[in-house]
Amino acid sequence: MSTLPSLSFEFFPPNTSVGSEKLRGVVAELAPLAPAYFSVTYGAGGSTRDKTLSTVQDIAALGHEAAPHLSCIGSTRQGIAELLELYRGQGIRRLVALRGDLPSGVVTAGEFRYASELVAFIRQTQGRDWLVEVAAYPEYHPQQRYARRDLEHFAHKVKAGADAAITQFFFNPDAYFHFVDEVRKLGVTVPIVPGIMPFHNYARIAQFAARDGIEIPRWVALKMEGYMDDAASIRAFGLDVVTRLCERLVAGGAPGIHFYTLNQSALSLEICRRLGY
Ligand SMILES: Cc1cc2nc3c(=O)[nH]c(=O)nc-3n(C[C@H](O)[C@H](O)[C@H](O)COP(=O)(O)OP(=O)(O)OC[C@H]3O[C@@H](n4cnc5c(N)ncnc54)[C@H](O)[C@@H]3O)c2cc1C
Repeated sequence: MSTLPSLSFEFFPPNTSVGSEKLRGVVAELAPLAPAYFSVTYGAGGSTRDKTLSTVQDIAALGHEAAPHLSCIGSTRQGIAELLELYRGQGIRRLVALRGDLPSGVVTAGEFRYASELVAFIRQTQGRDWLVEVAAYPEYHPQQRYARRDLEHFAHKVKAGADAAITQFFFNPDAYFHFVDEVRKLGVTVPIVPGIMPFHNYARIAQFAARDGIEIPRWVALKMEGYMDDAASIRAFGLDVVTRLCERLVAGGAPGIHFYTLNQSALSLEICRRLGY
């Protein structure tokens, strides 16, 4: 256990009290893995501001370290400062700082253009009080045409004051290792933790991947598609693929594993069990 990297688990804020109750159960199931923290996403343009806040409070009240995601696009400095104060009052000192995407129909970008500006704002106004994570894209950010520029923007964001990064999900470990090598050459020294998406639902994951420019290897896609609605085979094969991915990442020195849980525990638990946690 001691040689395995630390874990973290990501949730989205539930919409209903039933969903919140269920999430408390998921937290309780994952807690024995002793994760470093649980993080909670933040809806585009602040649409889940209060739900993210209450979900983070719920997790913290259960005695676990909780980290809100905070996206800045469409926000004002004052709005961000107020939210940071609210979290500070709850004893929260870790967050995932993002640019986010404007919800459709919204045209005002607000006072922040990039996540690097949010990171810089947090450091200017809050000093080193917060542990700040940022997002990384081993297969590059979908809105960036030039790989080199994306790497430089990432390096700039880290230098603005990030402590660590979590990657977008991916299925090709070479993309991760190459990304890490490239940003190290640009002077980035912080841990870059792979984000892992278990195959909760193949069709949905394939949709996310197509939208965000993430490669699902052809041999995986064809096999998954061939299973049609055979949920047991999809689950079994998906577990094998993602466990093997994690084994390669761990063997290659990944400093942690961050699971995109989609508020479910079973697949993350099984992958961790197979990895020896
Ligand atoms: C781990 C993780 C967690 C996430 N959680 C959430 C969440 O909770 N809520 C949510 O809404 N979204 C979330 N996202 C998605 C994220 O908000 C989107 O991918 C968004 O499009 C980019 O956010 P960013 O923080 O990576 O942006 P940035 O780092 O600002 O980059 C965005 C784009 O701008 C470019 N860029 C950066 N700086 C400059 C510059 N100076 N000049 C020109 N171009 C520049 C980059 O190359 C990139 O193409 C998450 C993503 C990850 C990987």
